[in-house]
Amino acid sequence: MYRTRTCGNLRLADEGLIVTLAGWVQKTRKMGGMTFVDLRDRYGITQLVFNHEVDAELCEKANKLGREYVIQVTGTVRERSSKNPNIPTGEIELVVSKLNILNSAVTPPFTIEDDTDGGDDLRMKYRYLDLRRNAVRKNLELRHKMAFEVRSYLDKEGFLEVETPVLIKSTPEGARDFVVPSRMNPGQFYALPQSPQTFKQLLMVSGFDRYFQIVKCFRDEDLRADRQPEFTQIDCEMSFVEQEDVIQTFEGMAKHLFKTIRGIEIKEPFQRMSWQDAMKYYGSDKPDLRFGMKFVELMDIMKGHGFSVFDNAAYIGGICAEGAATYTRKQLDALTDFVKRPQIGAKGMVYARVEADGNVKSSVDKFYSQEVLQQMKEAFGAKPGDLILILSGEDAMKTRKQLCELRLEVAEQLGLRDKNKFACLWVVDFPLFEWSEEDQRFYAMHHPFTSPKPEDVPLLDTDPGAVRANAYDMVINGVEVGGGSIRIHDSQLQDKMFKLLGFTEEKAQEQFGFLMNAFKYGAPPHGGLAYGLDRWVSLFAGLDSIRDCIAFPKNNSGRDVMIDAPSAIDDVQLDELNLKIDIKEK
Ligand code: ASP
Repeated sequence: MYRTRTCGNLRLADEGLIVTLAGWVQKTRKMGGMTFVDLRDRYGITQLVFNHEVDAELCEKANKLGREYVIQVTGTVRERSSKNPNIPTGEIELVVSKLNILNSAVTPPFTIEDDTDGGDDLRMKYRYLDLRRNAVRKNLELRHKMAFEVRSYLDKEGFLEVETPVLIKSTPEGARDFVVPSRMNPGQFYALPQSPQTFKQLLMVSGFDRYFQIVKCFRDEDLRADRQPEFTQIDCEMSFVEQEDVIQTFEGMAKHLFKTIRGIEIKEPFQRMSWQDAMKYYGSDKPDLRFGMKFVELMDIMKGHGFSVFDNAAYIGGICAEGAATYTRKQLDALTDFVKRPQIGAKGMVYARVEADGNVKSSVDKFYSQEVLQQMKEAFGAKPGDLILILSGEDAMKTRKQLCELRLEVAEQLGLRDKNKFACLWVVDFPLFEWSEEDQRFYAMHHPFTSPKPEDVPLLDTDPGAVRANAYDMVINGVEVGGGSIRIHDSQLQDKMFKLLGFTEEKAQEQFGFLMNAFKYGAPPHGGLAYGLDRWVSLFAGLDSIRDCIAFPKNNSGRDVMIDAPSAIDDVQLDELNLKIDIKEK
């Protein structure tokens, strides 16, 4: 037996016990005739003591231990004279009588400590060492606990976990597919699932009634902090349900997770907002509702007073930052620069402070009388000490998105994006289609299997752009943590949907014939949702990037720098797969 206890569980009550521990040397320090070693394993750190006077040879051996050596020690638990209140084992130490070096270690490229000196790239290259650090390990422990609680909740609700294949055919979720060549079928490729969407619908046709799967999905798209090429979904589907049933079930799951993982009783029902309102008042389909600063439209008040920027605008709108009139000219200039950055693209920003006497002082005072400025102030319900920030533009949607960025930035600066506060929201009534100016065609806003709202079905023939979908997203603190829809279960309606999306009959048959056929054999009404596990974990762990809750993530170029993937394959393999590489100059 390598050990009788772990490095995390000895307490004062264990004083006098003789135990054996095993773990990694975090650090050693010499003090007088004593040597102290911090021994670490997954469970914690225990202080070891070696006394030169008692056993000089053993102490010498301890002095030679390097960082990250793997050792086994036997000793007696003793109360510490100087206690460390910061760790659970801080009241005791182990007086070592036997030391066995199980393995040596070369010096790690960065310190294995909470505040490591390792930069991002280095830590990714040696991710197995990075994973020894508390912070990263804790995230994975949280992830495990979440997956466990998800299974527990869904099992109680009657969901069955069913695995679906990974080598499949394209599932349209709006991203590019990762493809895998088939050796046995020359010239043919599998696609990795962007989601198990079609399979879970087929399981409903099979009568499984309630399915879930914690499953890897693959999407070849540009990476951001909340995206990885492979990520994990809690994928679910239910039969004989309407939107309300799905929302209730998964609001219940959110509540369960908040309670069991964070110990928070979250208020129900969650707020609901139509997509239309989300875009109008927050410029985003995933508004962060931890704070206010709802957009106020100012076209009626501010247009037509000779300020040409506003006079030519299709949209003028702003936000009111409570108590922020103290912003200096320098801070306001910095905000103007922020919205003018090419990624955001605003032309400028107008600001107005409400002064102590209620008067409004703005950056465009020469165009507006105090009377008009007072009307504007009223529109925001602004009080003395508040700061109003206004953007305008020739494209209303674009300007709202810019205002959304400004709202988030100001909230960040004012400390309103508190990671321990949670604002949960359902965004509903999404448009079914999204028009692409570039391609001059409709795309499915969610995916092509999402059903239109029954009352909007007639519009499919007359005004497809106005059709609302039976779709819903769950948004927490501005993060889309999940989304789903009630599906089309009628093969004729599905046919029509494919046509509107520009599929020819042959193409639809070729791609989705299996699903359309299945629908002919008695498909129940069904719907579902997928939660993003990575996003949930990073939200609960207070992380800025989902990378930190994934054991072996990819970097921003989609590379795993530790194993060096993707990489070239050799000619024999290429030959077997009937593949030729022809890299185009870009
Ligand atoms: N398959 C969808 C997605 O990955 C989720 C769903 O509609 O259930 O976003």
